Amino acid sequence: MFAHNKRLQYTVRVNECNPALANLMLEQFGGPQGELAAACRYFTQALAEDDPGRKDMLMDIATEELSHLEVIGTIIAMLNKGAKGQLAEATASEAELFRSLQGAGNDSHVTQLLYGGGPALVNSGGQLWNAGYIDSIGEPTADLRSNIAAEARAKIIYERLINVTDDPGVKEALGFLMTREVAHQKSFEKALYSISPNFPPGKLPGKPEFASVYFNMSQGEGDMRGPWNNEPAFAYVSDREQQMAVDGGGGGASVQLSAVEEQACEQMKLRSASDPLSEPVTGAELGAGLTPVDAATAAMTPPAAPN
Ligand code: MN
Ligand code: MN
Repeated sequence: MFAHNKRLQYTVRVNECNPALANLMLEQFGGPQGELAAACRYFTQALAEDDPGRKDMLMDIATEELSHLEVIGTIIAMLNKGAKGQLAEATASEAELFRSLQGAGNDSHVTQLLYGGGPALVNSGGQLWNAGYIDSIGEPTADLRSNIAAEARAKIIYERLINVTDDPGVKEALGFLMTREVAHQKSFEKALYSISPNFPPGKLPGKPEFASVYFNMSQGEGDMRGPWNNEPAFAYVSDREQQMAVDGGGGGASVQLSAVEEQACEQMKLRSASDPLSEPVTGAELGAGLTPVDAATAAMTPPAAPN
C-alpha cells in the first residue's frame, strides 16, 4: 500500500513567480530523466524482484522518487501560481495578460492556457511523458547498470537547472534533489557489486575468442590507444583481413530453403530483375524537358569559368 504524508520531503521556498523557469523545471517532472520516470522504473523493477535486499531498496527509492516528483511539481506550481491566478480571474487587462503569457517565453503560454498553470506530465519542450523512457529488462546486473546511468543523467539535468536559476529557494531544493540522485547512484552501484559475478550481465559467458578483442575499424589520423584498447586487456586488431569473417568462414550469407520457398524466391527474383541495358525515361526528365542523354551531357559539362 501507499500512504501519503502532508509534509514534503524538502521544504519548497520559491522567492517569486516565474512561469518561464517553471517550464524548464518540467524537464524533471515529465521528462525522460525526471522523477516520474525514476519512480516508475524502480517501482516496476521492485515488483518483479525476488532478492529481498534489492526489492526493499527498489521500493524505498521508488517511493522517494515519488516524493521528489511531489517536490519538483510543487516548485512548478509555486513558480506558476501568480500567472495562474491572474489568468483565471482575469485581474489584468487582456493586453497585459496576453503579454505576460507571451513574454514568459519557452512555451509557458501552453502551460498556462492548456494546463492552467499546474505541473503537466510533459518535458520542458512540451513532449508528453511516455513509458518508453523506462528501459528495464528484468536482469538485475543489466537493470542496475541502467539505473546507475539514469541517476547520472538525472543529476546532470538538475545541475543544468541549478545553473539557470538565481532563485535561492529553488536552487536549494534542486540541490537537495540533485544530491539524492548521487546517493541513489551509490546504492545501485553497491547493489550491483554485491552480486558476484556481475559481468558480463546474464548467465552466458562471452565467446572467449571475441570477448577481449578491440577492432580498430575506423582507421586514419586520429587513431588512438588507451586503456580502452591497450594490451594486455585487449588484442588490438587493425588488419582489415582479420576484421572480416572473423569466424574463419567466407563472410557470405546462406539459409536452407524448402523447395516451395526456393521456387517462390526465384520467381520473385525474376519478376523484379533490373535490366542494366535499359535506358528508361523518367517523369522527372520529361517534366524538365530532357532526354536521359541530355541529362548525362549536362552532368558531364564543366561549369563555365567565371569571367
Ligand atoms: Mn529523484
Ligand atoms: Mn534517484
